[in-house]
Amino acid sequence: MKIGYRRRLADFAGGLRLTRELAKHERRPRESLHLYQQQRLESVVRYATAHSPFYRQRLAGVVGEGPVELASLPVLDKSEMMEHFDELVSDRRLRRDALLGWVEGLDHDELYLERYRVMTTSGSSGRKGLFVFDRSEWRVMIAQFLRYSAMAGVRPRLPRRLRVAAVVGASPTHMTRQISASASIGILQVRTLSVTQPVEQLVEELNRFQPGFVATYPSMATRLAEEQLAGRLRLTLSGMSTSSELRTPEMTERIVEAFGVRPFDLYGTTEGLWGCECEHHRGIHLFEDVTLVENVDDAGLPTSIGKPGTRLLVTSLHNLVQPIIRLELSDAVTLEPEPCPCGRTLIRARAIEGRTDDVLYLPARRGGEAMVHPLQFGIVTRDRDVREFQVIQEGEGVRILVVARPSAGDGLEKRLGDAMSRKLAELGVREPRVSVQRRDNLARSVGGKLQLVVADKAVRAARPGPG
Ligand SMILES: [Zn+2]
Repeated sequence: MKIGYRRRLADFAGGLRLTRELAKHERRPRESLHLYQQQRLESVVRYATAHSPFYRQRLAGVVGEGPVELASLPVLDKSEMMEHFDELVSDRRLRRDALLGWVEGLDHDELYLERYRVMTTSGSSGRKGLFVFDRSEWRVMIAQFLRYSAMAGVRPRLPRRLRVAAVVGASPTHMTRQISASASIGILQVRTLSVTQPVEQLVEELNRFQPGFVATYPSMATRLAEEQLAGRLRLTLSGMSTSSELRTPEMTERIVEAFGVRPFDLYGTTEGLWGCECEHHRGIHLFEDVTLVENVDDAGLPTSIGKPGTRLLVTSLHNLVQPIIRLELSDAVTLEPEPCPCGRTLIRARAIEGRTDDVLYLPARRGGEAMVHPLQFGIVTRDRDVREFQVIQEGEGVRILVVARPSAGDGLEKRLGDAMSRKLAELGVREPRVSVQRRDNLARSVGGKLQLVVADKAVRAARPGPG
């Protein structure tokens, strides 16, 4: 059953109320924020040990009568979470395989058991993740979306609703799609456009929709900036945000030149941690009143403020259906020691590294280059037999390395190769050359990161500029 207008409106209104609640935490002294976090942590941990067999067993002997000590709780990684999903959730009707099967057949906004929102991540580690939210937990996600919009200068106005274009991943099972659908009500009109469609088509749709605000990835924002400067795209923007990838100062300059607005860097994860730059653009304020965040080094020890960490541990202060306690995210950040001139006390992440997936440029059928966004390789993750993968460009071809699930049959390589070749041809790549190879594991960097898409830099340097 499709989610009706009244329900969406109620969820949006709930999210809006919550945003006002959360706003009270933004400028609170740190000590008082810590007290609040500790209270929420206690209730999440107590709930998890009472309702999740996985956590009951795992936290036995660690959590007693006294106060919960975050640092003493075991760290959870994503493959562990997926392995033990059925025992980890607090509703016994939720089963991983059934949920994955259901969510993969989804083509619109819909609830599982008329109650749960289900989404998947491909994630920067290349491993698929599964996340379930009930209604009140989903409202918290909406509240984070609204908080980010407010920080990025979205000023809803009447009588005409503010139009927001989200040019993002194509899959309806991803959070960005679902949150856009939930937020497209009342004062906002949010339209999601797929980053994977040809640029000419995007330009045409954007010209028709005339958004006042665009949310997308830096590579696409820069591509759209070129279109705007060339006069083919004609938008008057009051704001823009970019997320998920590295944005270099040159890219920022290009975007400012084209649209006259300075993009806000957004950080949003399905795991629950969100953050956004404020008007000073000096690092991302993390919404740590919703999700506790620890910055740790290779050994899992806390990194001191101002020093780079290698991964984050996140603990949701709201999710009870699928409690998330010290879940590892592969993002490497440096936390900013200085207070922000804006007066918000929410900690800032100076730089989020690991946003390193490359955009590929392959020879185009019509001459010049065809741009292939890392998200295009999502079709590899969607294959049930794939556990992890990496795409490596070699000259004008691509090699896909795959770690398969034990259940995978012989047809995997051919199936993936065919699907990927079809996709590249659709994107205008001339005679796509794709090879697929199985591996037992993939090479990770020192920090444990896996770069999903690696471009062959020598090829682009040798080729004449984009056509
Ligand atoms: Zn600030």
